[in-house]
Amino acid sequence: HLSQRLQLVAKYVPARAFLADIGSDHAYLPVNLALNQRIKRAIAGEIVSGPYENARREIERFDLSSMVVARQADGLAAIKSAEKVDVISICGMGGASICQILTAGWEQLKKFARWPRLILQPNVGSMEVRCWLQAHSYQIIAEEILEEDGHIYEIIVADPGKSQQLLTDQQLLFGPFLLAHKDLTFQKKWSLEIKKLKRVLVQLHRAQIEPLAKEQQLQQKIKIIEGVLNDKG
Ligand code: SAM
Repeated sequence: HLSQRLQLVAKYVPARAFLADIGSDHAYLPVNLALNQRIKRAIAGEIVSGPYENARREIERFDLSSMVVARQADGLAAIKSAEKVDVISICGMGGASICQILTAGWEQLKKFARWPRLILQPNVGSMEVRCWLQAHSYQIIAEEILEEDGHIYEIIVADPGKSQQLLTDQQLLFGPFLLAHKDLTFQKKWSLEIKKLKRVLVQLHRAQIEPLAKEQQLQQKIKIIEGVLNDKG
């Protein structure tokens, strides 16, 4: 059974796709999609031996080795040059790691006749991910936000193509689709963020060693978030 988070990721994998799930750990996502006949083929890429063995075991357990292959590799190196994957998913890591994997694989990605869809689920640092996408001619086509087991997760889906307009700083920070909806989970995430920033401010005050600029920066950020949360338009 897939977590709600990975179910939402799965929703954006087109039917009959060839999927590369990078940082797959147990390969839960590709195995579930293959079991449900939702995909044609999949690669489960993993850099670390333990998780790679988990992936292999899971694939064997369901007798799926004709459809899903586990490869121990760093990032997109799990994809061979002749393999025309339709979708790359990278889930459950920080935004910086996701961007690092995409940047390292960019030369390879660029060569695709049809660039794959990217489904990214950064645990933190989603702004960095949106900036990367915009700088590399990917357009965000959908976003999801959900809470599961006390964590709030964001999912960003992007297809190749430049959008007419560049994303604003606000859209990059909050997510263009998430910002347009501002659903309850979104409100909760950013209310928590304000609380966190305010705690940092108090600590800075107590320490009295931080430069004023840092304090102003935090106050500015709190103002921006409050502005978004209070704007009901
Ligand atoms: N994608 C699964 C999910 O969302 O449930 C597993 C997430 S797990 C927290 C992150 C996995 O990414 C770890 O198993 C880690 O070893 C792997 N990983 C981190 N950097 C990687 C890289 N450069 N290439 C391949 N795998 C990587």
